[in-house]
Amino acid sequence: MDEPKKNTLKGVAAAPGISICNAYLYTKEIESVQDDFVSDVEEAKNNLRDALEKSKKELSKIFSLAVDKLGENRAAIFEAQMMILDDPVLIKNICLRIEKEKKLPEYIVDDEITKYQDLLKASHEPYMKERSHDIEDIKNRIIRNLKKKKWQSKIKDEVIVVTESITPADTVVFSRSNIKGYVTNFGGLTSHAAIVARSLNIPAVVGVHDAINKIEDNDIVIIDGFHGDVIVNPDEEQLAFYNEKIEKLQKYDSELLKIKDEPAVTLDGHKIELQGNLDLLDEIEYIIQSGAKGIGLVRTEQIFQEIDGFPDEEQQFAVYEDISEKIYPNVATIRAFDIGGDKVLPFDVKEPNPFLGWRGIRFLLDNLQLFKTQLRAMLKASSHKNISIMIPMVSSIKEVRRLKAVIDECKEELKKENIKFDKSIKVGIMIEVPSAAFMVKEYAEEVDFISVGTNDLIQYLLAVDRTNDIVSDQYQEFHPSVIRTLKYIFDECKKSKTKVSLCGEMAADILAIPLLIGLGLTSISSSPSALPYIKKVIRGIKYKEVKRIAEKCLKYKTEEEISEELRKFLQTHLIAETETIL
Ligand code: PEP
Ligand code: MG
Repeated sequence: MDEPKKNTLKGVAAAPGISICNAYLYTKEIESVQDDFVSDVEEAKNNLRDALEKSKKELSKIFSLAVDKLGENRAAIFEAQMMILDDPVLIKNICLRIEKEKKLPEYIVDDEITKYQDLLKASHEPYMKERSHDIEDIKNRIIRNLKKKKWQSKIKDEVIVVTESITPADTVVFSRSNIKGYVTNFGGLTSHAAIVARSLNIPAVVGVHDAINKIEDNDIVIIDGFHGDVIVNPDEEQLAFYNEKIEKLQKYDSELLKIKDEPAVTLDGHKIELQGNLDLLDEIEYIIQSGAKGIGLVRTEQIFQEIDGFPDEEQQFAVYEDISEKIYPNVATIRAFDIGGDKVLPFDVKEPNPFLGWRGIRFLLDNLQLFKTQLRAMLKASSHKNISIMIPMVSSIKEVRRLKAVIDECKEELKKENIKFDKSIKVGIMIEVPSAAFMVKEYAEEVDFISVGTNDLIQYLLAVDRTNDIVSDQYQEFHPSVIRTLKYIFDECKKSKTKVSLCGEMAADILAIPLLIGLGLTSISSSPSALPYIKKVIRGIKYKEVKRIAEKCLKYKTEEEISEELRKFLQTHLIAETETIL
């Protein structure tokens, strides 16, 4: 299909897959509140107590469902929500105000919790903004129970849910039904809706502006989670096109299953190391099942995101040891906390340009106690010799020397404490900042391995904020300057015999795979759901050929020429099924 038709809405492709189904408009009734007086203060306070109790019961039901469906780690978020219901300061405040102002409890609950939400919304951090949605959920829950309305705890089967935004509680309730896809007005790739949809393996397109006004209940909807397209009431041609795609995908999926245990090797015998990125602990099973050779990136700041404050050494050690044992004999590359930028900082700091600010290693070196706690936990978990340490956002050699000194200090401490660890543990850095890319030779001399973080490298190289949808079309992974920089990095690492890998989202784009391999990359780490597709592509190409394509692409001056070349290549050189996901 060339030109998108008028009934096609565009959003962010958040979880892969294609579904055709009736729309179910999940409009969460926002409970209205009246600024009215109560006649009996004691009765109002009793009402409040009952509503809090009821809300707690609902949440604990969601919590146990969440443990089942999503695992303990992700379920912890509901425990945090339940704690809000038990917050003595909040409850006392609400009761005092009911006594003093003699207003309806729902009015005061709304006012008190909204104040808290406003604080979160004012934050620059997308993560904090997302949390304000979760609080909305609790507020609505209490008010609904104050009004003695019923909880909608199950929804229709076999529908595509269209909604403004999805809270974690919604997703868990939905997971009890057979939902075929999600379309949301709000949310980006890092939203809960996206992360949970990926974990539950349900196609999702998020950030479709105004979706709930453009789609009506029972409309037939096609959702294409590969491209971020939502087609409303498709015509015959569109239906035929997507039905054929679904059929091809089903065949493709069974093909993928067949190569699960086969190596990631090109037709002419060029071996590629294929690893998975770990954002949620439960994804580890998927990484193992997909036949990946270890973990190229553990985003520790994501793994511990539900914990309030920083996890202590023991908490971290338990998680890292568990990862090490599960992935053994393969390696897990554990990245030190990459906080700052779009990831929440633990302190109340406001920065004018967080992406250019106190982020990654800059933050860690300024918070040595916290950094050392993490390093000690990683070292203690390294006794099986399958853990590597990776450091994000490096932008000077001095930082690398300092961080190595801190690691040595931790090793000395552990030696004195008679604690076992891998004495020759590998230490690597991420190349995400252009200045580091152009001095990669010097960095390579300092460390054991390099991992290219294209998500950040592209944003810094092209001066395009990776989270800003106004300029998202300028965020181009095939911009000529990006691929020339990658070529430079791979060549320099090869010359200095330093292992180089790539763990940005570019690795999950099958269009990029022939190019990256042709440019000389031999190790790839991607989000687990993309791993089977990547392996399929690798096994369908010849190194000799992709090298030639890469050379051609290096000469182009525009992004369009490069992506067109790659599209053509994949269409003509790979089995027809690949077209489905292109
Ligand atoms: C990257 O920048 O490419 C990367 C993998 O790190 P993150 O997406 O966590 O910033
Ligand atoms: Mg990064």
